[in-house]
Amino acid sequence: MRVVVAGGGVAGCAAALALARQGHPVAVLERDATPRPAAVVEAENWARRGVAQFHQPHAVLARLYAELAAGLPDVLDALAAQGVPEVPLPEGLRSLWCRRSTLEWVLRAAVETEPGISLVPESVAAVEADGGTVRGVRLLDGATLPADLVVDAGGRRGRLSRPWLAETLSSPADEVYVSRRYRLLPGARTPAANRGVISVAEADGYAALVFPHDGRTFSVCFTRLPDDDELTSLQRTAVFEAAARLVPLTAEWVAPERSVPASPVTVMGGLRNTFRQLDPAAPLGLHPLADAVCTTNPHFGRGTALAVAHALRLAEAVAGDPGDPRAWREREGSWVAGELRGWFDDSREIDADRARVWRAVRDGQRPGGGGSPAPGPVPRLLVLAAAGADPEVARVVLRHMHLVDPPDGLSAAHARVGALLARGWAPGRPAPDGPPPGLPLAPPRDELVAGLAAASELPA
Ligand SMILES: Cc1cc2nc3c(=O)[nH]c(=O)nc-3n(C[C@H](O)[C@H](O)[C@H](O)COP(=O)(O)OP(=O)(O)OC[C@H]3O[C@@H](n4cnc5c(N)ncnc54)[C@H](O)[C@@H]3O)c2cc1C
Repeated sequence: MRVVVAGGGVAGCAAALALARQGHPVAVLERDATPRPAAVVEAENWARRGVAQFHQPHAVLARLYAELAAGLPDVLDALAAQGVPEVPLPEGLRSLWCRRSTLEWVLRAAVETEPGISLVPESVAAVEADGGTVRGVRLLDGATLPADLVVDAGGRRGRLSRPWLAETLSSPADEVYVSRRYRLLPGARTPAANRGVISVAEADGYAALVFPHDGRTFSVCFTRLPDDDELTSLQRTAVFEAAARLVPLTAEWVAPERSVPASPVTVMGGLRNTFRQLDPAAPLGLHPLADAVCTTNPHFGRGTALAVAHALRLAEAVAGDPGDPRAWREREGSWVAGELRGWFDDSREIDADRARVWRAVRDGQRPGGGGSPAPGPVPRLLVLAAAGADPEVARVVLRHMHLVDPPDGLSAAHARVGALLARGWAPGRPAPDGPPPGLPLAPPRDELVAGLAAASELPA
């Protein structure tokens, strides 16, 4: 069977490897002609214009680690050989501190050396179909490439399957990413990360994050509402540095005796939760994957885990019945309609609730909380907030945030959250009978804004 994979990003490489290992000849077509740098240390300067977020910080969830361990274990070995640190987490989970550029460098190297895969620096212009079945793809120069299976791994801006992606659900993630990469100085100790994979302070009205990476690098990232005018100045280097020194969570990392900046401040907005439903009339043998179908707010760090999971579910569907594209569609489609849709709904609900709280803070209204549990379903954001007040809720939340349990897994903590609320707990407060809280890891938004006023006056 001839396979064409359009797009050589995370999903495309994973799908190509898994399908080639079933014995199918695979052509990976990638429109970014820039070759893989010779060494992984150069990957942080790899020009990947086709992936706008390539140099934004990425967290690796336990689910990505588990998918690779089960389906592409040699990729995990290759990451370890490149010095990517493995991160043990509670519950026996494992993850990695890994730059996106390193992950993709290793995946690309595996594709380039895999027998049966050819990597072609070409852009796919269209999917060719006939009688309800794919026949191949047409390239930008008009040439055609025959295929029995066309995998559209063109990412969030990919257009190939759009004619058949009929119903689109889309809502803003309501967060802007502002980040900068740093390098630890020789001999400097890596501070502890409070969530293992990353360090997080979910402050009132914004969030501060640190992503430890491989190669003794890390990124500091602030996320804010797109319509928070007083925090837009974070994209200016002087203001970003002032914020990084002001917020205790990040100050420890950017202390001049510990690290030096290794990149400009970069900003990414326009982030959305998007889910595209494949039209049942789409030609059989066409399979859009990962970001081409579904994007979720990067704050959750889900994209690469879901990309590899999706690629491997497609490969399993093909292996289950190699000659029957209708069976592939049904099997892979049921994962999309079930688990993938579940993570989309989860992200969308949490984002909407978080944006509501952040806007209330921005507008000077403290969001209410506490008192007796409201009737009806417990909002997911409330369960996440309760993780700091109850170890059993924390366990459920950890498994949820790492995509280990099914998307509705937070419901296992509803009774405990209800009990906390009944005892007078509210988001942002410690357990009713727990120890007093330590010093805050990030100041409330109004204090941050006031603290940045002087830096905002400096020239850009
Ligand atoms: C700011 C930001 C931060 C993020 N942080 C995280 C994180 O912390 N953890 C995490 O797991 N995920 C994160 N993500 C999500 C993650 O980056 C994506 O989910 C992941 O890259 C999706 O992989 P993909 O293969 O579907 O698409 P991509 O990686 O975008 O790859 C698509 C590829 O297809 C190529 N292409 C497109 N069209 C064509 C065509 N017509 N012909 C040939 N080639 C084509 C492109 O050049 C590109 O190489 C983040 C995303 C953003 C925006």
